[in-house]
Amino acid sequence: MKRPMISKEELLQIVKDHPTPFHIYDEKGIRENCRALKKAFGWNKGYKEFFAVKATPNPYILKILHEEGCGTDCASFAELELSKRSGITGREIMFSSNDTPEGEFSYAKELGAIINLDDISLIDFLDKECGVPEVICCRYNPGGVYKVSNGIMDNPEDAKYGMTKAQLMEAFTRLKALGAKEFGIHSFLVSNTVTNDYYPMLSRTLFELAVEVKEKTGVAVSFINLSGGVGVPYLPDQTANDIFAIGEGVRKAFEEIMVPAGLGDVAIYTELGRYMLAPYGQLITKVIHEKHIYKDYVGVDACAANLMRPAMYRAYHHITVFGKEDAPCDYKCDVTGSLCENNDKFAIDRLLPRPEIGDYMCIYDAGAHGFSMGYNYNGKLRSAELLLREDRSVKQIRRAETVEDYFATLDFGEL
Ligand SMILES: *Cc1c(COP(=O)(O)O)cnc(C)c1O
Repeated sequence: MKRPMISKEELLQIVKDHPTPFHIYDEKGIRENCRALKKAFGWNKGYKEFFAVKATPNPYILKILHEEGCGTDCASFAELELSKRSGITGREIMFSSNDTPEGEFSYAKELGAIINLDDISLIDFLDKECGVPEVICCRYNPGGVYKVSNGIMDNPEDAKYGMTKAQLMEAFTRLKALGAKEFGIHSFLVSNTVTNDYYPMLSRTLFELAVEVKEKTGVAVSFINLSGGVGVPYLPDQTANDIFAIGEGVRKAFEEIMVPAGLGDVAIYTELGRYMLAPYGQLITKVIHEKHIYKDYVGVDACAANLMRPAMYRAYHHITVFGKEDAPCDYKCDVTGSLCENNDKFAIDRLLPRPEIGDYMCIYDAGAHGFSMGYNYNGKLRSAELLLREDRSVKQIRRAETVEDYFATLDFGEL
């Protein structure tokens, strides 16, 4: 059963200083989840999580994660800079970019980040720009269709990421000739998997690949990055992943494939985003209108500019009404934002306890790929982000945008 991280009484206090809509994050939940993840992979002595910054790019969040032992996974100049300004540099950064613009590899190298190459052509691009660093990683795409249990699958063959196996073999040989000394393999094949089988399966694929790389090129990798993709149950009746079963599944594959091949010292890395933050962030919004035409609509003060996933992917986000958590859900409505776009709906034909104007709603699992996908269409401003500390005090960790922020890049000078 999904519940808001704050009570209605706490909410009524918070809105005195912080008007809705806002995103709020649960520090205690974030820390406990990090500790469980670390424990689940504790059998691997080099294990490290590099949080995918794009999921929740806020220095307070990065600092909490860093205190729990996580580094960052960055894919752009701004994400590298955010990591640096949050006190995370050097080998605590994975730079997993693709279609990389000029200058970004140089900056990643300057920070001492581990560079992950998405394509074989990037070897020359990197070498010309700043030279191949001693530590380097290559991203693998096995092609075909990748199936995990309970029907979850994706089509690596249609994905723009990574290198083919033949390219990967050639890449390691060339990188070695260009001075690289330490190597890693990375792959990200399926997103938001709600099954304990994805990482164990992926790790088997990558462990077998590492053995083949060693045989064919003489390169013994020192780390394998399982990247992101471990998901969260957005639907209330879905069962959450069991991170201990996942860690154990990876350990089994490691014992079976890596240890006999003399690769028992290889470190496991992860680059989780959603799993680290999604359940620990909620979007709080207020009902401002209701409308009855051919259907019933409930209008709230948040819109897709604050949380794009429902509009973009038709993603389900659970919603409850503050103070009516246990009331029967007997009112069917669409929950809409104010964009002039008919896809600006947080829910379609959703059964809720009938919301009234002035009620507050909690939109769940908005902690990753939520605020960060925000945009300014229709002149909508991005909201504040708040942190619910372990002592239950609330700290604003990003102020809401103002209209002056929106105009900051415009020039009215010569009108
Ligand atoms: C987005 C991304 C992640 C995180 O993905 P989640 O689904 O949030 O776990 C990790 N690595 C790379 C390279 C990514 O692009």
